[in-house]
Amino acid sequence: MIIVMEAGASPAALDHVVRHVERLGLRPHVIVGTERTVVAVVGDERGAASSGLETLPGVASVLPILAPYKVASREVRAEPTVVQARSLVVGGGRVGVIAGPCSVESRDQIVETARAVRDAGATGLRGGAFKPRTSPYSFQGLKERGLELLAEAREATGLAIVTEVVAPEDVALVGRYADVLQVGARNMQNYRLLEAVGRTRLPVLLKRGPAATVEELLLAAEYILDGGNHAVMLCERGIRTFESHTRFTLPLATVPWLQARTHLPVVVDPSHGTGHAALVEPMAAASVAAGADGLIVEVHPDPAKAASDGAQTLDVAGFRRMMEVCRRVAAAVGREIG
Ligand code: PEP
Ligand code: MN
Repeated sequence: MIIVMEAGASPAALDHVVRHVERLGLRPHVIVGTERTVVAVVGDERGAASSGLETLPGVASVLPILAPYKVASREVRAEPTVVQARSLVVGGGRVGVIAGPCSVESRDQIVETARAVRDAGATGLRGGAFKPRTSPYSFQGLKERGLELLAEAREATGLAIVTEVVAPEDVALVGRYADVLQVGARNMQNYRLLEAVGRTRLPVLLKRGPAATVEELLLAAEYILDGGNHAVMLCERGIRTFESHTRFTLPLATVPWLQARTHLPVVVDPSHGTGHAALVEPMAAASVAAGADGLIVEVHPDPAKAASDGAQTLDVAGFRRMMEVCRRVAAAVGREIG
């Protein structure tokens, strides 16, 4: 349910409501909006209906939350959530661009890429140190050494580091280096991992599972939000269909559909979404036209030599061209890149 506070409700009244909710064995999430403050109440609500919440001082009304996802729903927060990490701003009319290699491979590779993508207008640097690979024989990432190299690239450029965490026991380690924790597509329904990143206060980029519905994506986000971490970005990265001309099928209707139902920003990954470098620029532009709040794109100084995902990776010149096109599209739809 949502407890809507009166416009002039005092902090003491809000505190009283929060404590009352906790006494009922439920979890309160205070959401301060520009127009009103609400308390989204989650947990087993049976018994709470007759507990007199609507009679507490400062309470304007008590409403049910109709969506199965609660804290993620637009019903509890009308205005968009803007996620910020250093120079990376995602949402609220700003289209944040996260770019970099699929995997961190060496100091030269990551620092050179970081400088190039920053100069082209990216505000976040991606790069996997812990890689979830389909085959156990493929390159698994440089692990902690990769995180150290990402930190060096941040030092050199000021870019926010976006990197994947694949297991709950790695969250503390990755969290010491990352500005944004990426939860990958294969882990979207790894509930222990979602709870672990929900206990941190680092922004999270949550990628859609290739076989997950958007409602399942929102419910996965809910695990993170329910832990008290409200800085969640959703990422459409393509789904598995009968189609085989692209690596995955990238459904861009997801962007406006999600934005109508959630206040969380929506990022698109046209690299994994297509699997082909030639398709990345047009689909990045289409994502911006569809209203995406951010892009995450694979870029490598020499994609042919990339340790992973070379076929879908742009070179630096290709990324620059992509940014020019996206800037023009963003201007046409009243948004700003970077
Ligand atoms: C990645 O970003 O390199 C990655 C592994 O992505 P996904 O989880 O979407 O497959
Ligand atoms: Mn990749």
